[in-house]
This record gives sequence, structure tokens and C-alpha cells, in this order.
Amino acid sequence: MTYRRLGRTDLQLSAIGFGAAPLGGEYGTLDQAEAERAVHKAIDEGITFFDTAPYYGRTASEERLGRMLEGRRYRVVLATKIGRYDKASFDFSAGRVRASVDESLRRLRTDHIDLITAHDIEFGDREQVVHETIPTLREIQKTGKVRYVGISGLPLRILADVAVRAKVDNALSYCHYNLLLRDLDTYLTPVVKEQGIGLINASPLHMGVLTAQGAPPWHPAPDSVKQAGRDVVNLLERHGVYPAIAALRFSLNHPYVSSTLVGMLSTLEVETNLKALDFEMPPDLLKEIDTMVAPVKDLTWPSGRPENSDA
Ligand code: NAD
Repeated sequence: MTYRRLGRTDLQLSAIGFGAAPLGGEYGTLDQAEAERAVHKAIDEGITFFDTAPYYGRTASEERLGRMLEGRRYRVVLATKIGRYDKASFDFSAGRVRASVDESLRRLRTDHIDLITAHDIEFGDREQVVHETIPTLREIQKTGKVRYVGISGLPLRILADVAVRAKVDNALSYCHYNLLLRDLDTYLTPVVKEQGIGLINASPLHMGVLTAQGAPPWHPAPDSVKQAGRDVVNLLERHGVYPAIAALRFSLNHPYVSSTLVGMLSTLEVETNLKALDFEMPPDLLKEIDTMVAPVKDLTWPSGRPENSDA
């Protein structure tokens, strides 16, 4: 495993990060004993960055991860979030932020969170996030309950704007840098890099689209993107390449991203994804994928308040 420093923080993140959305059942029912083995396998193999949120499984992911990490908390860099609590339930106010951090500490069975992220900020009031949410997290930071402060969301322009104005430590983007979409570098990377702000890239499998199993029923991507994903998966399989390995490898090649967060549920997925570290994509195959996805290049979906959405 390789480790990369997150922006100007003193956090060293494993290049592959463990996304805990599936631990909340967001990708279907899970075998909890197997998921627990996956968490321990990941730590044993050097995957030390874990990302969860109260929203994943409506607190179930945090509860489960907290239990699974008991006795091994000191081995990992732990990230969770505030602000999003259900599909349409958001609260970025100071009072809710303070309560949320305390609730997460309890569920995660820890006395500190290494990275706290304002979750899907495009659903909130942008000025509230800049002037209330992030400053409240900075106050909490002084108590030692959280070590670093960041933001996440789908639209890139609001992430770039808020990252700079609120002077956060990290921006977490998802579904903007993988085999299907590449516009992370158009809107966000140059801005955060210039400011020394950390960058985490999530969903290298485009939230399941780039797997043989395909997208979960709730997936918001346009059908044309899901079809392009199926075509890429079929192409890779025809070449004898395991799709998740090729897809994760592509995202891992990003030169500024500190960690690529991939959601995992089983030891097999952990073992398979670790193979991405040594995989090299044949250049001709990448060219063929590029041609295949060109018609849907950088096609995303609307997310959040109209004034905050890019699509
Ligand atoms: P992903 O692209 O990582 O895909 C996850 C899906 O792929 C799951 O169904 C998983 O079981 C499956 N998978 C993983 N490895 C596989 C393999 N080797 N073979 C076959 N299937 C495999 O999507 P994600 O989990 O949504 O994103 C990663 C993480 O990033 C999340 O868990 C979460 O922690 C974080 N994230 C944050 C935000 C945000 O803050 N707004 C948004 C998206 C993701």
C-alpha cells in the first residue's frame, strides 16, 4: 500500500480508502460477519483510511463500523460527516452540527474523528455552510473532538467555491474521476491544489455502474451512462480484465488525490481491489474505453438546490 498526505494536514491516507456506505446497506443487504472480516482484512493489508456518515443506513454504518473497529481504532484514520441525515433531511446549523459530532463519537466508540465532512453541501444554503457550519466545526476542532474539517458533494463548482472561501482542509468529490467521468480536473483540482487543500476522490466504480453486478436501483445517472458502464464492463471482461481492478487503477493514477474511496462489503472485494495497486492498464484498452464513453463524456445528474447544481 502507498500512503499520501492529505493537503496540508498531518494525515497520511492509504491510496485505497475503505468506503463504508455499503456497511449501511446502501448497496443491498449485507452479511455483517463477512463485512467485519472485510474491515479487518483491509486493515491487515494496509487500508487505513475509513469513511462513513450518519446518512449511510441512517446511522447503521457508523454503529457497525464503530463496533468492528473496537480495539483497532488507533490503526485507522477515521472520517465521518455532518449535515445529511436522510434522503431529503439536511441540517447544517451550528446546533445540529455540535449534536451530530457527539452522536457520531458515541456510535463510532471513539473520542475523536480525524476528518469531519459537511455532507453534500449542495443541498444546504451555501452561505450558511461558509459562515456557520464550517466555523462551528473549527470551534469543535479546538476541543480535540475533530482533527480536520472538509466538505463533500456532487457538483464541482460549489465545492471549489466553498473550499476556498471557508478555508477547509479537504474536499471530497465523487463520481467525477473514473473511467466514465473525468471533469474533476476541469473544475476542482486546480483550485484546491493552488490552496494546498486536500482532495479525496470517491466512487471509482461509479457507485456500482462499473461492476458486473451493475448499478443499484437508486442510481441517479442517466440511462445512457449506465449503458456505457455496462459496455465498458463487457469490454474489460472480453479482454480478461476484472472491471473493478481496471476501474480502481484508473482512479488511483490521479496525481493529486490523496485517497480513492471504494465501497466494500466482503474480503473478496478487498482482496480483488488490492490487486489494482499492481495492475497496469494496457494503453490500447484505455483508448478503446475512451472511445466507448466519449458520447456520454462527463454526463452527470442534477444534485441539490438549483443554484448549487452544475447539471
Ligand atoms: P463505489 O464506486 O466505490 O462502488 C461501490 C459498489 O461496488 C458496492 O456495491 C461494492 O460492493 C462494489 N464493489 C467494490 N469492490 C468490488 C469488486 N472488487 N468487485 C465487484 N464489486 C465491487 O461507490 P461508493 O461506495 O458509493 O463510494 C465509495 C465511498 O465513498 C462510499 O462508501 C463513501 O464512503 C464515499 N462517498 C461519499 C460521498 C459523499 O460524501 N457525498 C458520495 C459517494 C461516496
